[in-house]
Amino acid sequence: MSKATNWLTALIVLSMVLGVLFGEFILFDSDTPIGGDHWTKSVGDLVLIRPLKMLVIPLIFLSVVAGITRIGDPSKLGRLGLSTVAYYLGTMLIAVVIGASLVSFFQPGQLDPEVAATLQQDGQALFDANETKRTQIQDMQSQSLGSTWMNILSQCIPTNVFAEMVNGRPLGIIVFALGFGLALAAGGRRTEAARRFFDAAFEGMMIFVQWVIWLTPIGVFFLVAWTVGTIGFATILGPLGSYIGVVLLGLLIHGALVLPLILWLLTGTNPYRFMWQMRRALLTAFGTDSSSATLPVTMDCAEGEGGCSKRASNFVLPLGSTVNMDGTALYEAVAVVFLFQLFGFELAFSELVVVVITATLAAIGAAGIPSAGLVTMVIVIAAVNSSLAGTGEALPLAAIGVILGVDRIVDMCRTTVNVWGDATAAKVMTRIAPDDPDGD
Ligand code: ASP
Repeated sequence: MSKATNWLTALIVLSMVLGVLFGEFILFDSDTPIGGDHWTKSVGDLVLIRPLKMLVIPLIFLSVVAGITRIGDPSKLGRLGLSTVAYYLGTMLIAVVIGASLVSFFQPGQLDPEVAATLQQDGQALFDANETKRTQIQDMQSQSLGSTWMNILSQCIPTNVFAEMVNGRPLGIIVFALGFGLALAAGGRRTEAARRFFDAAFEGMMIFVQWVIWLTPIGVFFLVAWTVGTIGFATILGPLGSYIGVVLLGLLIHGALVLPLILWLLTGTNPYRFMWQMRRALLTAFGTDSSSATLPVTMDCAEGEGGCSKRASNFVLPLGSTVNMDGTALYEAVAVVFLFQLFGFELAFSELVVVVITATLAAIGAAGIPSAGLVTMVIVIAAVNSSLAGTGEALPLAAIGVILGVDRIVDMCRTTVNVWGDATAAKVMTRIAPDDPDGD
């Protein structure tokens, strides 16, 4: 197995490098960069994103049911649930504080007035031209923070779990599977056959996952080529370079120092070894931009090489792929403060506190799909705007257009940190809910 996974890792890395070269030197031409619907994107979607997504909903259902029936005892489950939520909230808050501190310190939005004006104009043009994003952003703006939360809460208590499955909304499926798993555990001998069935079905699902994962190198090649082909490397060195640099620095501090430190303090395991064991999931997150599509790979790595218990990761990872987004939270804080700086606003400490709180909430509300964080960022901008209301000034929504063009690159990196955050949680929670030595 380990030989095969080493091969797979090598293939993924090779296809990423080839994808970058193909994207930069063959696809990208600074006069006419390739468009969003280029064939490379369609092939990447077809070969990797769609097969992975096909697995996600049944995997979430089966894994939570099988995991919960293994835990059995509701009080143990309560401890695991509370610790998981506390871990997720705590690490996201730390991430946001890192982001807000870095962007306030480095001030990447304080640019030469001429450069700033050009960026603002280009941003407006991009915002006007991108109809899909514009509509998503405007829809999000029309919802208040309260209604966004009401929406999330009502997703947690679905009236029809099949409708949640059809519409790909994981929260309701997790809640239903949790209750059903507990009921199967409580049923003793009467439900023993069903417990065995779901356990075996989950194992079967993971075998299916291991087959599909072999598509990763091909899909990653096309997706990376498309990203580089649309953006081009020179952008990273352009006026948005310092914004990208601050996001990446924050992600690096959080992902390579803070999370490893937390993991080491709470479990005593070597965090970098664990990071290496999770490498295929991290590379897939980087290549696909989606923590939800990466979930099958994350589970495969965590429960295989990563040594996480099924009891913990079967519940912690599906939940994490929907609500735990350290990278997104950090990025939203940096991006919003950057945009306010660029448009000439000085944010006071109280407004930064608003950013910290709302960016955490917005990240929880973001789905594990590409660019979700860019859209939920509207919640943060709206909150800061309303706290500026007394001044009669507000940041226009079209400001988001400024960072729209480079979002994909930033998204690849924040999604990797999102998945890494989920994986560290699974490792930490393995201490609370270890598997029995006989495998049950
Ligand atoms: N792409 C991210 C994820 O799937 C969400 C985001 O920040 O846009 O985790």
